[in-house]
Amino acid sequence: EMIVVLSLVFFILIVITLLIASKLQKLFTEPIFVLTTIMKDIETNHNYDQKIRKVRNDEFQILFDGFNSMINTIQGQSISLKLLADTDPMTHLYNRRYFTKVSESLLESAKRNKTDLSVLMLDIDKFKNINDAYGHEVGDDVIITLASILQEKSRKSDILSRWGGEEFVILLDATNIDGALVVSEKIRKVVEELVIKMEDAQELKFTVSIGVSQINIEKELSLEDSINRADKALYEAKESGRNKVCIN
Ligand code: GH3
Ligand code: MG
Ligand code: MG
Repeated sequence: EMIVVLSLVFFILIVITLLIASKLQKLFTEPIFVLTTIMKDIETNHNYDQKIRKVRNDEFQILFDGFNSMINTIQGQSISLKLLADTDPMTHLYNRRYFTKVSESLLESAKRNKTDLSVLMLDIDKFKNINDAYGHEVGDDVIITLASILQEKSRKSDILSRWGGEEFVILLDATNIDGALVVSEKIRKVVEELVIKMEDAQELKFTVSIGVSQINIEKELSLEDSINRADKALYEAKESGRNKVCIN
């Protein structure tokens, strides 16, 4: 009789011990599993966009919090690195390399959807004179002002870039040559009428020349071809007296 009761008590104790052991094991392996899963995702997919939820109130939560802030820092730095690599720090427009990359996808979707695309190439007229007369800093301000005008006059889906020093290229989304001409004239006119007031009450005015071309989606010409045509049109605008828009 006694033996049976003792065995039963013993058995119950063993079960309780096992339950506690498994509970403890879960307590420790689960958080490690959470961490390793996220680390694998970061390693393979470079997906830094994650956060471990606050679910505990122990040392593991401290580890999680530290992990979260570490990922946050890395994510922030990778965003600013990307921005640094893809944009021009002065105007915040895309640089030439990134423009070319982003434009490829717009070109693809234009081919698929059979929509028009046009290229606008713009260059400040006699910019060297502005630098010589007012200094490089004022020249920089002119470039920055022009960049914001371009942003104002273009659509959200257009792709803007600082092509080089005082030269800009815009890929005009869903725009044929007539539309491109309208946008270009608008820009040309706004710049022509712009008066920049200097510190010493001097007034600075400048003009731009623009070349435009429509991308021939049917013939599947490359973006490079259209940019070359826009460049030729720009040259023509310069040759025929500047402060003009020409088509190619
Ligand atoms: P054109 O009408 O034929 O375009 O004459 P231009 O003087 O504008 O052309 P040119 O190519 O001879 O001169 C461009 C000048 O732009 C030369 C260069 O020093 C200046 N420049 C290029 N990038 C910058 C910049 O970021 N800031 C400033 N201030 N000047 C720049
Ligand atoms: Mg110029
Ligand atoms: Mg130039």
